[in-house]
Amino acid sequence: MFQKILIANRGEIACRVAATAKRMGIKTVAVYSDADAQAKHVQVCDEAVHIGGSAPKDSYLRWERILQAAKDTGAQAVHPGYGFLSENEDFAKACAAAGLVFIGPPASAILAMGLKAESKQLMEKAGVPLVPGYHAADQDPALLQREADRIGYPALIKASAGGGGKGMRVVNSSSEFADALASCKREAINSFGDDAVLIEKYVQRPRHIEIQVFGDSHGNCVYLFERDCSVQRRHQKVLEEAPAPGMTDALRKQMGEAAVAAAKAVNYVGAGTVEFIVEQTGYDSPESMKFFFMEMNTRLQVEHPVTEAITGLDLVEWQLRVASGEPLPLQQSDLRIHGHAIEARICAENPDNNFLPATGTLAVYRKPRCSSFEISDKHLGVRIDDGVREGDTISPFYDSMVAKLIVHGDTRAQALARLDEALSQTRIVGLTTNVQFLRHIIRTDSFATAKLDTALIPREEKALFAQEPLGLALTAAAVVANTLHRERALKGHDPFSSRDGWRAYGVATRNFGFVFHGASYNAVLTYAHDGNLQLCVADVDGEVSGTLAYREDGDVLRISFAGQHARVQVFHELQGHEEVAHVFAPQGATRITVVDALAHAGEVQEAGGRLTAPMPGKVVSFAVAAGDKVKAGQPLAVMEAMKMEHTIAAPTDGDVLELLYAPGDQVAEGAELLKLKV
Ligand code: ADP
Ligand code: ADP
Ligand code: MG
Repeated sequence: MFQKILIANRGEIACRVAATAKRMGIKTVAVYSDADAQAKHVQVCDEAVHIGGSAPKDSYLRWERILQAAKDTGAQAVHPGYGFLSENEDFAKACAAAGLVFIGPPASAILAMGLKAESKQLMEKAGVPLVPGYHAADQDPALLQREADRIGYPALIKASAGGGGKGMRVVNSSSEFADALASCKREAINSFGDDAVLIEKYVQRPRHIEIQVFGDSHGNCVYLFERDCSVQRRHQKVLEEAPAPGMTDALRKQMGEAAVAAAKAVNYVGAGTVEFIVEQTGYDSPESMKFFFMEMNTRLQVEHPVTEAITGLDLVEWQLRVASGEPLPLQQSDLRIHGHAIEARICAENPDNNFLPATGTLAVYRKPRCSSFEISDKHLGVRIDDGVREGDTISPFYDSMVAKLIVHGDTRAQALARLDEALSQTRIVGLTTNVQFLRHIIRTDSFATAKLDTALIPREEKALFAQEPLGLALTAAAVVANTLHRERALKGHDPFSSRDGWRAYGVATRNFGFVFHGASYNAVLTYAHDGNLQLCVADVDGEVSGTLAYREDGDVLRISFAGQHARVQVFHELQGHEEVAHVFAPQGATRITVVDALAHAGEVQEAGGRLTAPMPGKVVSFAVAAGDKVKAGQPLAVMEAMKMEHTIAAPTDGDVLELLYAPGDQVAEGAELLKLKV
């Protein structure tokens, strides 16, 4: 076994690998960029080497620098994590040339599976079922059009070199094909430097079910069962679970054996995932499920923890053992599934704004009670994998995942209940996240009853977007109670001593102003003779009033107001000149702007009107030129940041005066992209 390894990655996966290495007594070397100088992965490793600037191309993708760091520190092997260099066959070769073990498959297997089209040709030979489609080398547009017509619509054009959900276009009819092909090729050349495409039948409402495989250098290969990753947005995974609901033993064996055949066809060694798209005629008919090979990811997957939870195995330990030449620790017949596990990806993004990634500082980052990277505490059944601490920043340089929350239970229902509870205890202030959105998803009928397919999010749209989990009355009551509580704590226990309008006799009132979901509201607090607090909140449909009571209980306040009870935690955050209160309760989390009672209410201005970059990133393309007339809502430009593309649309009708950047330019958040005359 190795004595020292270098981890050529960052964030949660670097921390994850380091945890196993530590447990196995292997020393770890971290590498880091400027932005990551103080990062958690640097802290948890034994040594750390600075490798360059914040952009990945200046650090985590600079492999000569990484190999030099390995040499300088005496590391014997390199773990690439996922993303970055993990699926780069040149890097795998360079490791070998430098006398280092690449903890991953042979370069030849990475190469064989690297391009979707080529890998499909290989799989066809190995007898693995494929989605009907075209995946040959000839890229003549007329031929591609004929092939799409033959396959039928809807069809999917996919960049052969694509990944991360990018470079895909659904085409609904023959007449749309030419435009979709051109736009797919443009994105492919920009993102992957290779514009070859393949065409597939677009499977309707399919499930994404993938098989974890593991090979060793002694010719053994096993499958560690399946993961269902059907819940996706923008073709990217949001929730993953194992085992797949509705899976039968027979189908599991068939898919497992197909995945092993796929791996063996490329002499696979190490951890890999064979992704299948599964057609189904209904949600409750496993006999109707037909599976087709989609691609193989030749690395450890983001969602590997659900497999660890149901098998009780440490996949990073297996990777290290296999890479050091040991045989697989177990054979197929030794492997069993225990219970059910679900992973939720907590991301810095705004689901209500087309999942726009968010950046910012984790001013508050409180996690649910959880165990370390192994779900060893069966009673708790909650694991968190992250690479950040409270106070850390989610920067625009890397992807938007903040943490992975993994739960395990005896049954799916138990795992689901644990996930809901753990999400309700996850408290993040300082940047927008999808935590509440994840709770909405798992409570939909589709997810709760395992009616899974990749269209779940759009299908359940009404229950998922623009939801308000707490309501104004309870939210306002929580903020008022928390304000009083903080004042007492600051000023001693006598509410009468406070200097903001309280009187020691008679009836005193106090006004609060709020902006909630864009509208202004007032709340009046009355301190009655009998010592009770009366609160009256002017809601959209009239007033809600009642007695407000609160009591401290650990780090939460128990409040009751107008027949509602909740255990709330409130954090105040200054956003520019605004004070925003974040209210967390078991029912859900929400935010409300607190307006200074003395200032004029209703002054909150809608942002917009300026054509600025919503986040730091790269300009991909402009859809307009100077002199063009545009209509409100018309796409103007496409930006890319944190692995996602965003279209910037015209806020009003107008004339384009000038484009201020060119495609390929990096822009800062708030940078004006073009001048529009309205
Ligand atoms: P998984 O199936 O494991 O979720 P993804 O394809 O979503 O795999 O990618 C896993 C990780 O790999 C991402 O979190 C990201 O760090 C990295 N990654 C994948 N594709 C890209 C890409 N096109 N550009 C940058 N990073 C990528
Ligand atoms: P990536 O390399 O970006 O992960 P994949 O080929 O794995 O690309 O596809 C990503 C996602 O796109 C899948 O998980 C699935 O939701 C969807 N998808 C891919 N191929 C098809 C298809 N033929 N029909 C329907 N959906 C598909
Ligand atoms: Mg994929």
